[in-house]
Amino acid sequence: MSSNEFQTLGISAPVLKAVQNLGYEQPSPIQAQSIPILLGGKNLLGTAQTGTGKTAAFALPLLSNIDPQQKTPQILVLTPTRELAIQVAEAFQSYAKHIKGFNVLPIYGGADIGGQLRGLKRGAQVVVGTPGRMLDHLKRKSLNLSQVKSLVLDEADEMLRMGFIDDVEMILSKTPAESQRALFSATMPAAIKRVADKYLGDAQQVRIQSKTQTVERIKQQYITVKAHQKMDALTRVLEVEQFDGMIIFVRTKSSTVDIADRLQARGFSSAPLNGDLSQAIRERTISKLKRGQVDVVVATDVAARGLDVERISHVINFDIPYDNESYVHRIGRTGRAGREGNAILFITPKETRLLRSIEKTTKSTIAPLTMPSNAQVSDQRIQQFTEQLSKTLETPRLDKFREMIVKYVEENDLDMADVAAALTYENQKERPLFPKLDNIVAPRQESSGKNRDRDRNRDRDRDGKNRDRKGKDNFSKDSNSRNPRAKSERIVRDEEGNVVPMMTYRLEVGKNDSVEPSNIVGAIANEADISSQFIGQIILHDEYSTVDLPGGMPDDVFKTLKKARVRSKALNISIDKGGDNTAPSNRSPRPKKGPKKVRSGDGDGDSAPKRKSVKSDGTAPLKKKKKTYTKKDKKK
Ligand code: AMP
Repeated sequence: MSSNEFQTLGISAPVLKAVQNLGYEQPSPIQAQSIPILLGGKNLLGTAQTGTGKTAAFALPLLSNIDPQQKTPQILVLTPTRELAIQVAEAFQSYAKHIKGFNVLPIYGGADIGGQLRGLKRGAQVVVGTPGRMLDHLKRKSLNLSQVKSLVLDEADEMLRMGFIDDVEMILSKTPAESQRALFSATMPAAIKRVADKYLGDAQQVRIQSKTQTVERIKQQYITVKAHQKMDALTRVLEVEQFDGMIIFVRTKSSTVDIADRLQARGFSSAPLNGDLSQAIRERTISKLKRGQVDVVVATDVAARGLDVERISHVINFDIPYDNESYVHRIGRTGRAGREGNAILFITPKETRLLRSIEKTTKSTIAPLTMPSNAQVSDQRIQQFTEQLSKTLETPRLDKFREMIVKYVEENDLDMADVAAALTYENQKERPLFPKLDNIVAPRQESSGKNRDRDRNRDRDRDGKNRDRKGKDNFSKDSNSRNPRAKSERIVRDEEGNVVPMMTYRLEVGKNDSVEPSNIVGAIANEADISSQFIGQIILHDEYSTVDLPGGMPDDVFKTLKKARVRSKALNISIDKGGDNTAPSNRSPRPKKGPKKVRSGDGDGDSAPKRKSVKSDGTAPLKKKKKTYTKKDKKK
């Protein structure tokens, strides 16, 4: 079995080639279901979240149908954030690698519009962007939607949450009525269903069903790790876990080889197992694993299907599986023949939702595992070394070595302990007993199952309390799930739990402009790249609004926010001085408390404390260095 399965689904030759080059072995469930529907030109309503392979689920079929000669946009993808826009655009680029004359253009707020205008002028078959900036381009008439064949709304519930739904509808209404439409959303709130009913008509529905399955005798743990830290995290886990045989699951055939090679180089006897290898090689690898000649097998789902090796004590999900059923299959490779098994799941911060859904399916709590520290790695190596040393000391033929060393010590007047230390050092050069592994800063662990429940309840309480206290008129119904105002009723903390000093800003848009808090959250989050968790209380007045944001806003962010627009009106942000008649200030505001003061560098004589760009130096309104509130930084 191979990526021919993609061929069976009917994707075009150049797209298939790209998929094969990327090492995709088989379509994920959401892809298997969505690709034929979209290739057939039908509308699609998909319930899918990040990590399920949803980008390829729409990109592969839509790319298969494009006309490379036509340079006006044929595929339009709307995303809630700039990060997602970039990610989706990159995915399109990689899947279209073998399509000659192909161009994809990401367009989003907070970026130079000039470059985007030039890009649109040059022509792009695919445009991926955030709704606000797309509308901007529509108003400038720089974006021509007349030839759009397919439109995708990605993470539609996020767009709703961020207040973009009206913008989305506006864009939808400007695309040709006969164009194909696909909507992907992790959840299906009423407002999304309404949009789907209105614009997607008789769309085919796709969702990944998961039956509840029990996984007894398997200790399940997870570790939160950023994508680029996975290999280091894996090395540490392998160093400290006491394992016999191990299967590491990855998504692509190329990763099986790459990771097996890297582990081999780190001293673990490992081998890849993927669908490209001949049957004979696969069988040989499995028999080596059974006999203990190989300890670690790095496999794809397809290749490891049905694998039954008793000595597998550990399964590591290096890449999260696309669906819960695969998870259960994967971890079922351990805990064989009545033995105890261990399953460790690596999740990137964006995949938290999948973790919860796995817990639900398996009706079990997956406990957080702390990233093994250098000291733990060191202890483990010392223990293994001393065990080996004890064994070697029992070897009968050491006499000659002893004589030789004693002579050497006497002749040179040395201390035997020094010599032993030097020999130990020499012996362990490849595997130092006091290693300085790459300094992984363990990302904040997700709260445990119990804590998560508590957090969820707290969120629920907060939202409920909020609605009652503040009245409904300030909030759209849909923003209840993530009520921006709620932020002000608790202390805002950063990822390390430090209190973030907030201050109140004034925005020159208000109820009279039909603005909703969610519109403001969306604009601030996207234009200023401030993570929405740091956007606090929003109060709407008729003519203006106020919003709580982290104090000490850098000048460039402040300037960007001045120009940012909601409902076509500039926010014209200023520090709030209280009272309706306060004239907006042009100064970068002074935080309420705590921040390190940085003098302004713009030579305007303004003595208000300012920070350098959050992005460039990571300076933030807290004592700690390298702390920012931008989404980009959070992702690093
Ligand atoms: P997404 O859910 O679209 O964010 O995709 C998650 C990750 O899975 C991305 O890194 C993709 O490159 C990868 N991916 C998507 N489809 C496949 C596939 N069929 N085989 C292997 N990897 C895939």
